[in-house]
Amino acid sequence: MTVPMLQLENVVVDFDGFKAIDDLSLTIESGSMTVVIGPNGAGKSTMCDSIIGRVRPASGRVLFHGAEIQAESEHAIVGRGICRKFQTPGVLVALSVIDNLAIAATRDRNWWACFSRKGEAEARARAEEILEQIGLTDRRDTLAGNLSHGEKQWLEIGMVVATDAELLLLDEPTAGMGASESSQTATLVRSLLGKHAVLVIDHDIDFVSQLGGHVVVLHQGRLLREGTLEQIRADEEVAAIYLGR
Ligand code: ADP
Ligand code: MG
Repeated sequence: MTVPMLQLENVVVDFDGFKAIDDLSLTIESGSMTVVIGPNGAGKSTMCDSIIGRVRPASGRVLFHGAEIQAESEHAIVGRGICRKFQTPGVLVALSVIDNLAIAATRDRNWWACFSRKGEAEARARAEEILEQIGLTDRRDTLAGNLSHGEKQWLEIGMVVATDAELLLLDEPTAGMGASESSQTATLVRSLLGKHAVLVIDHDIDFVSQLGGHVVVLHQGRLLREGTLEQIRADEEVAAIYLGR
């Protein structure tokens, strides 16, 4: 039997008696796309927090390649190959696009020292590749602070990719984007599959339909349904709770 890349087993996250995640079990395979949808407050971001070690489950297990990680530090989990992008872009505004990517590619938290280290040439080469992949070639030397909101989101996706993490967690990558930018984001995210597994949180159904992938519906911290978007759309309970039909 092969061990799945990531498994959540009966995870409960309790905030002073309120179960933000309530007995959640989920499996993510290498190279795959999982899209998590659900109303505001459903527990989507908390689920990410529990995977990356930012919150501790009260009970249940999180397994990465079969190893229990739910008690590990965020730093240790990132070191195992899981990386997360937040809803608000966290780019370094006073540095250029290419420098942001090169820093992310060093996989070194000691940013100030990284440019004098062995590995800089490799990180620079990787940064140039990712620059092209995220479609920001013509913004290479622009300060990240001068990018549009959408471009900042793409840069931060690029920074997550630059860590070469095996599992990328993208929390609302289309936040603040219009339809055309969202659709470019879907193309970018799809281009990451295979090399990376991607877990995307979003509530824009148009974007979700462009992503494809396995859809998981969270509601009140519980897994309400999972399946293809077509199956989810046809589900009456989901429609009543989430799609407002
Ligand atoms: P989503 O990302 O699906 O909108 P969240 O995971 O952010 O939902 O939140 C799930 C629920 O947990 C919400 O009711 C939220 O208010 C609550 N919550 C999230 N973080 C905390 C926290 N640190 N302390 C207390 N309650 C929290
Ligand atoms: Mg959220």
